[in-house]
Amino acid sequence: MIPKVATEAKVAIIGGGVAGGSLAYHLTKLGWRDVVLLEQDELTSGSTWHAAGLCTQFNSSYNLMRLLRSSVELYARLEAETGQAVDWHPCGSVRLATTADRLDEFGHRRAMGEVAGVPIEIVGPERLAELHPLVDTTGILAAAYLPTDGHVDPASLTRAFVAGTGAEIMRRTPVTGIERDRAAWRLATPGSTVRAEIVVNAAGQWAPEVARLAGVDLPIVPFEHHYVVTDAIGELQGRERELPVLRDPDDSYYVRQEGAGLLVGPFERGPRPWALDGIPPGFHARLLPPDLDRIEGVLAAAGTRIPAFATVGIKQIVNGPDGYTPDGRCLMGPVPGLENFHVLAGFSIFGIVFAGGAGRYAAEWIVEGQPSDNMWELDVRRFGEYACSTAYLVARASEVYEREYAIHYPEEELPAGRPLKTDPLYDRLAARGAVYGARFGWERPLWFARDGAARDEYSFRRGNWFDAVGDECRAVRTRVGLLDQTSFAKYRLSGPGAEGLLERLCANALPPEPGRIALTQMCRPSGGIECDLTVTRLEQDRFYLVSAAATELHDYAWIEAHLPRDGSVVLENVTDRYGVLTLAGPRSRELLQTVTDSDLSREAFPFFRARELTVGGIDTLVLRVSYVGELGFELHHPLEHQPALYELLLEAGEPLGLVDFGYRALESLRLEKAYRLWGVDMSADYTPLEAGLERFVRFDKGDFVGRDALVRQREEGVRQRLACLVVEEDGADAHGYEPVFAEGRPTAYVASGGYGHVVDASIAFAYLPVEHAEPGTELEVEILGERRPSTVVTQPLYDPRNERLLS
Ligand SMILES: Cc1cc2nc3c(=O)[nH]c(=O)nc-3n(C[C@H](O)[C@H](O)[C@H](O)COP(=O)(O)OP(=O)(O)OC[C@H]3O[C@@H](n4cnc5c(N)ncnc54)[C@H](O)[C@@H]3O)c2cc1C
Repeated sequence: MIPKVATEAKVAIIGGGVAGGSLAYHLTKLGWRDVVLLEQDELTSGSTWHAAGLCTQFNSSYNLMRLLRSSVELYARLEAETGQAVDWHPCGSVRLATTADRLDEFGHRRAMGEVAGVPIEIVGPERLAELHPLVDTTGILAAAYLPTDGHVDPASLTRAFVAGTGAEIMRRTPVTGIERDRAAWRLATPGSTVRAEIVVNAAGQWAPEVARLAGVDLPIVPFEHHYVVTDAIGELQGRERELPVLRDPDDSYYVRQEGAGLLVGPFERGPRPWALDGIPPGFHARLLPPDLDRIEGVLAAAGTRIPAFATVGIKQIVNGPDGYTPDGRCLMGPVPGLENFHVLAGFSIFGIVFAGGAGRYAAEWIVEGQPSDNMWELDVRRFGEYACSTAYLVARASEVYEREYAIHYPEEELPAGRPLKTDPLYDRLAARGAVYGARFGWERPLWFARDGAARDEYSFRRGNWFDAVGDECRAVRTRVGLLDQTSFAKYRLSGPGAEGLLERLCANALPPEPGRIALTQMCRPSGGIECDLTVTRLEQDRFYLVSAAATELHDYAWIEAHLPRDGSVVLENVTDRYGVLTLAGPRSRELLQTVTDSDLSREAFPFFRARELTVGGIDTLVLRVSYVGELGFELHHPLEHQPALYELLLEAGEPLGLVDFGYRALESLRLEKAYRLWGVDMSADYTPLEAGLERFVRFDKGDFVGRDALVRQREEGVRQRLACLVVEEDGADAHGYEPVFAEGRPTAYVASGGYGHVVDASIAFAYLPVEHAEPGTELEVEILGERRPSTVVTQPLYDPRNERLLS
């Protein structure tokens, strides 16, 4: 039983590290002063106090690069603003390249920085030696120089955040219980209870323990991380200009100047998780015993690159823990299943540099109901329950840790913790050459290697799958292909209130009668696209919803948060119960007709209709939809019947030239057809009107979430529009985030791109200012350092009259 309430607040933040401090600061900035911050020990006594304080803006994501830029800009001005010194060192950073692939990676990031406002210069060995005279430049091709990077003192930074906040700070106040009454949360602490409307779990590596008090799991696991600090080095004594922070990605370590010495931190192989059975009570302001054996190899490599490091004495070794997530990015946003309960934790050795920007977006999410930029890459809903097992977490986090400085290629799929979720066809398709990738834990075929090794070989240019994917695309467009789409998120929504709920959430009109399907977006009040799914009406008050695998929890949580409280709607996630086999291509009807007695003619089974059919004795729900823009059918079936159904289709398809195809072919085909993909071409940052989806918005159907904003935008006119560009390629395509130049100036970035194998063109989608979005406009897209001539074209490039789709 939780004792009597002693403190009331609008927001209670649990955790007084850099994340909790930044959040409190930003809530104050947004005008919320009724905030309490509870810290079990002293401020910064978790992971924050011992951090090395490095702040780089180099990142593989455009949105995160902008977030990091906002952190760095804040740290540079925070002292003047709060009067509390933060010890910001704007020393810049250099990152070394010794291979051509690494140069490609730098080229891609440099271009992204151009749009994100983060200057990145690629400098040669001579300039590198000027910037960092301690480096032996042997074998170095170039370096990426980020002049606006730096480092900060983490404890001072946290104090500055707190100094600049109106929050009440409760030190030595552990939260030991979490309960909810009708309107608010009640946090038990040893002496009293804090009652708050909104709770934020900013408890760092303790965040899973705090989450468990509220009855949920979070995918965070603590890992150890070392750095060493040396004695003074002669060359650095009296040096006027501080050395830039150096990162040597090939040998996996960072180096920064610390007084007249160096601070060197390795991201070693075989990293070690910590406290898997629970963090020991009383672990505050403490370090872990160092394990020099584990890091000596990396330190030796550092000594080769920086000879002065090899000979100087080491005066301090720090080994501290921090909470890691399966992808090394923090968890942010409302926790599904808990009302008004947010998380901001799991910073994976990057909390100091992320805290400023992440705190701002987290505060916006709380105060305004959404962050001002798309934070999907940090959204806690990107993981489900599957990601919370210790074995999975340790495997994934170890991989992320070891690969901190690895080259991150486009379309890369990493092996750790896999396979996790497989459907019954997994081995069968693998035997047929399937190369798998994973989404939301599910294994999905990416492409089929028909001869040669069935594995990905990555490149910033084209991967080894390029030709095989081209063959799959051509087969789908001319004959018929079969794709296992079991990973689709699937929900059932039923009850007397189901129609009313969907009417309120969907921007499109609902399917008017059973057996009809509608494609719809669900918008935020701002009009931004929150979800993109198909809604099938099975009966008057029974619906079947299908969405992307990646958004299984995200979309579920969005709908769940809007359920009426009177119990008139039941929402069920049935993803794991049903398999989906997709037939696509001009001969798909012919194929399906051989295994069912039902009439599949165009008249009997038109586009966007659903029918319950018996296929070879198996009950299936067949949806006539297509994400490739061909005649096609999705066969939703009980998972246990999947092998039988697959064999049946395979046999029936053989005389028709049926091929297996994978998600990479799907991607190429949907680009040709200009079908949007949520998360890249569509997100909460853009409205359906900007995304060119106005045909799916029914202003005349009555009110729905986002309607007012969309009406306003329609009256005022959109300022940007998703345009399709054809790029004059030279062996490399745009993948995402490449800058688009209009009259020589960067004006946008690529949302998604790739090669259209059937239209034989390199395709890129980008949100362009309307004055540049007209077909025929000549622009440039920078790919790997080269500005490629590009033309805005009328979309889609393939079958613009939908003749094939509707055939
Ligand atoms: C050796 C090392 C070097 C690092 N170097 C860098 C770097 O150079 N750059 C960088 O960006 N990042 C770096 N990091 C990472 C960075 O330190 C962390 O990501 C960051 O400090 C995390 O901040 P936080 O606020 O999320 O967590 P923490 O600082 O751990 O704060 C969480 C707080 O919650 C409190 N708490 C927990 N449970 C409860 C409860 N039940 N009730 C009340 N309070 C509770 C804890 O006491 C703690 O103070 C480094 C990490 C390590 C280990």
